[in-house]
Amino acid sequence: MHDVIVVGAGHNGLVAACYLARAGRDVLVLEALDRPGGGSRTEERIPGYRFDMHSVAHNMINMTSIPAELDLAGAGLHYQEMDPFSIAVHADGRRVRFHRSVEATIDSIAEVSRDDAVAYREFIAAAIPIVETILPAIRGQVGLRELPSRLRSLVRALRREPLSTMRDLLGPYDTLLRRRLPSDLTRGPVAAFAAHAAAGPSLPGGAMFAFWQAAYHLFGQWHPRGGAQALADALLLRLESLGGAVRCSAPVERIEARGGRITGVVLEGGERLAAKTVVTAMDPKLALLRLLEPPLAGRDGADLAAARRGNVVQALIHVATDRLPPYPQSRPGDWNGLQSYVDSLDELTAAWTAAEAGRLPDPLPLYAFTTSALDDSLAPPGHHTVYLACPAAPATVEGGWAGSSDRFVDAALETVESRAPGFRASIQGLATWTPQDMEIVERWPGGHPMHLDIALDQLGPLRPTRRLGGHRTPVAGLYVSGAGTAPAGGILGTPGRLAAKAVLDDWTGR
Ligand SMILES: Cc1cc2nc3c(=O)[nH]c(=O)nc-3n(C[C@H](O)[C@H](O)[C@H](O)COP(=O)(O)OP(=O)(O)OC[C@H]3O[C@@H](n4cnc5c(N)ncnc54)[C@H](O)[C@@H]3O)c2cc1C
Repeated sequence: MHDVIVVGAGHNGLVAACYLARAGRDVLVLEALDRPGGGSRTEERIPGYRFDMHSVAHNMINMTSIPAELDLAGAGLHYQEMDPFSIAVHADGRRVRFHRSVEATIDSIAEVSRDDAVAYREFIAAAIPIVETILPAIRGQVGLRELPSRLRSLVRALRREPLSTMRDLLGPYDTLLRRRLPSDLTRGPVAAFAAHAAAGPSLPGGAMFAFWQAAYHLFGQWHPRGGAQALADALLLRLESLGGAVRCSAPVERIEARGGRITGVVLEGGERLAAKTVVTAMDPKLALLRLLEPPLAGRDGADLAAARRGNVVQALIHVATDRLPPYPQSRPGDWNGLQSYVDSLDELTAAWTAAEAGRLPDPLPLYAFTTSALDDSLAPPGHHTVYLACPAAPATVEGGWAGSSDRFVDAALETVESRAPGFRASIQGLATWTPQDMEIVERWPGGHPMHLDIALDQLGPLRPTRRLGGHRTPVAGLYVSGAGTAPAGGILGTPGRLAAKAVLDDWTGR
């Protein structure tokens, strides 16, 4: 019998397993797919071209000490900075380059509009102390030790206009950006980046996701050499070096409990593995309401069942090309980060409403990553990987995804072609990856990569619910991790590290 079974070898499951193995526990990770990684996978979707299947920009995990503590560099993980982290490719030919350096960004905005440049400087100055206040929670530093510095950041955030800042924070980012930035020159791309974090423009309390723009200036935006898979591969190597193991093609069908205590798991096919401790690192609703037997009941079960998952997710097209998208007036570095094709905030807000109602947005908000521009290991010499993503795609769409895919591809390619004439002619092959594919392959109900909606009442210690926010469950020996648990989704690792800490604290009676 293993000390701990972890269900799911996404990056959070692997992080949890590494910390448990580092503490001397015998850990086995069970993974449904034939390889680890979950939302941190890279695959050769078109012969010769390796595409990230989901995450590209690993920003949050690089704000934590996890990569250093687990010595992931020593396990082969090499992050390359994406600087500029974003460029706004407006349809009318205007460009704004968002560099790690605030000053360089302001210079870029000022080339087009002095007013927007001044407003952006003030916006980032207001956003920095807000990001610094949130940061310890993102890092999982929730002790009293961090309290003084958090309070100092909070005072700095509220110092100048306390009531206006509080109002801003409680509101949606649509309103925030209209108040703080004078035009769509910067509103559109800042909103596109906030949307990329899976938060809608009209969401109350969503302002924080636009303020998060400052985090990219503070910490940069990073892509693993070799693709997002390199993070999962390094975690796997580290886990093995610590004595743990991952078993792939091992989907868990049931998590069994008897008398309020965990007894083990049963794989599809019937194999039973006994365990006194199980950490689920997958969608928490699926884990505790469907796989767990008996399922979580009472107030805990009702709270979890009520946790929201909306209809707005992401849809992707992986495009192999023989050149980078040929933007007129381009400069070196334009393909390093996220290339935003969102011209206006109105467009994004309308798209979110359409997607929530099950319609494909028109116009289609879109962004691109061209990872091969930074990493020549991903495509044949002189060729490129163009990753096109719609951040406001309906999980369930009128007519179904099979009937909507062609329309989605046409609209996306037209959007790029109109800003990069000649793009269509450069295409060597393409492959779509729809929310429906993600639901089936990734086991993400509703194609939701964050497992649950990102919203103020479903973040931090409230994620997935207040009573499960400490990663413990009412079933002795059962713990939850993954993007749907505290503190947040995305490539972060903190949900894995905190779940491991809960297990080890309980073990040692702390
Ligand atoms: C298009 C797109 C772009 C994104 N871009 C970014 C980005 O740039 N930056 C960022 O930070 N985030 C991004 N994300 C989000 C990010 O990919 C996810 O939030 C993150 O990967 C979740 O990690 P996880 O380890 O918690 O869970 P997952 O990655 O979902 O891993 C869970 C694992 O559990 C396995 N599993 C599920 N059920 C079972 C079972 N019954 N038995 C055994 N195994 C099981 C799954 O196969 C999977 O491997 C993006 C997502 C999408 C869709």
